[in-house]
Amino acid sequence: MRGLRVGVVGAGIGGLSAALSLLAAGFDVHVYEQARALGEAGAGVQVSPNASRVLYGLGLGGELARTAVRPLALHQRRWDDGRTLLRTPLADPLEERFGFPHYQMHRADLQAALAAAIPAERLHLGHRLVAIADDGDRVRPSFAGGAGQELDVLVGADGIHSTVRGLLFGPERPRFTGCVAYRGLIAAERVRDLSIEVTAQVWMGPGGHFVHYYVGSGRLLNFVAVVERDTWGRESWTDRGDAGEARAAYDGWHPQVRGILAAVDETFVWALFDRPPLDRWSSGRVTLLGDACHPMLPFMAQGAAQAIEDGATLAVCLAEGGDPAEALSRYERLRLPRATRVQALSADNKTRFHLPDGADQRARDEAMTAGGTDFSYRAVEWIYEHDATAPRSGH
Ligand SMILES: Cc1cc2nc3c(=O)[nH]c(=O)nc-3n(C[C@H](O)[C@H](O)[C@H](O)COP(=O)(O)OP(=O)(O)OC[C@H]3O[C@@H](n4cnc5c(N)ncnc54)[C@H](O)[C@@H]3O)c2cc1C
Repeated sequence: MRGLRVGVVGAGIGGLSAALSLLAAGFDVHVYEQARALGEAGAGVQVSPNASRVLYGLGLGGELARTAVRPLALHQRRWDDGRTLLRTPLADPLEERFGFPHYQMHRADLQAALAAAIPAERLHLGHRLVAIADDGDRVRPSFAGGAGQELDVLVGADGIHSTVRGLLFGPERPRFTGCVAYRGLIAAERVRDLSIEVTAQVWMGPGGHFVHYYVGSGRLLNFVAVVERDTWGRESWTDRGDAGEARAAYDGWHPQVRGILAAVDETFVWALFDRPPLDRWSSGRVTLLGDACHPMLPFMAQGAAQAIEDGATLAVCLAEGGDPAEALSRYERLRLPRATRVQALSADNKTRFHLPDGADQRARDEAMTAGGTDFSYRAVEWIYEHDATAPRSGH
């Protein structure tokens, strides 16, 4: 075990995967999570090869393969007639091209796989960080219940509401993106009559888009129905949604979309927030990762993947030795431009995916059909082929 004591605040996908990367590098790592029990939202997550590469490197390949679904393709379709706009092969061709699988997973399965690999005595639940004292040589976190142990480095992986970010750079509210997402899981047998193939499907229409894919070894169909709203009036960011409201928003869409929504008993509605990119993530011996520093619209399915990359690169930078604060600056220089670029692309997709019928939409569709845009290999290779354990700047 190398001497460095590293505290990670937050046991989401970002914090847990960072902790594993840091443990694998030999550091003395402790994770502090405010919740009393781990519980990811009942929803899916796509794990692209840039992220699965890291997770395989951490020895989780077997566990992922056990619970994940390995889709045949990513299929982007027109909202009403279902016409194919772009169909990007996944499975074998993707693995030949990028070396690692693209998986669709239940978020709880991914979180459980990560948490199970962390020694129990290193995972501290019921620890809500409230303050940080950084004297230049040491960092001391304080939790709601009292002071924590002295650390060499503290990592804020505490999500879009990040307390660590607020303590480093001052309070700032995330901004409502004008989109809400109805999310949910449906037992696969309830939609069997729709003969939905094992692909991730993205239906693009005026003012909204609809995504669905299988998770949980194929037993569940995950859906995300994104619609635009002027305001978000509720206090909470996630709320039990009204399935009837979701169905009404997709009136007139393709029968497969309506068929899926017809099978929904329970849905949660999420307001989608983001924040403008930061120009720095670190201060002294404290840094950020994941949604704490680069929350993004989920329209490239990269939020968790970028968080997983962050942890891997952070571990590499700290393992290079030297002054920890300088290592955190190196980490930030390697990661910030890339995450900012993915953030921007995700935001652009709000407009692209939601174009009303008309000339702009036709131009988009023609470009997609010609290839080289969206999730085509050519367009995403800079994302998918990245090796966060061997980072180079400019990628
Ligand atoms: C609809 C939707 C679909 C998505 N689909 C995908 C996808 O397919 N692929 C993908 O890669 N990404 C996807 N994302 C994005 C992804 O979910 C997030 O980017 C990712 O989960 C962020 O992980 P995180 O660990 O940074 O933050 P979080 O998951 O928010 O975890 C933060 C943790 O910190 C804890 N915490 C907070 N404050 C404190 C504190 N003060 N003290 C201690 N603990 C604290 C929280 O309790 C929480 O456990 C999607 C997002 C949405 C909304």
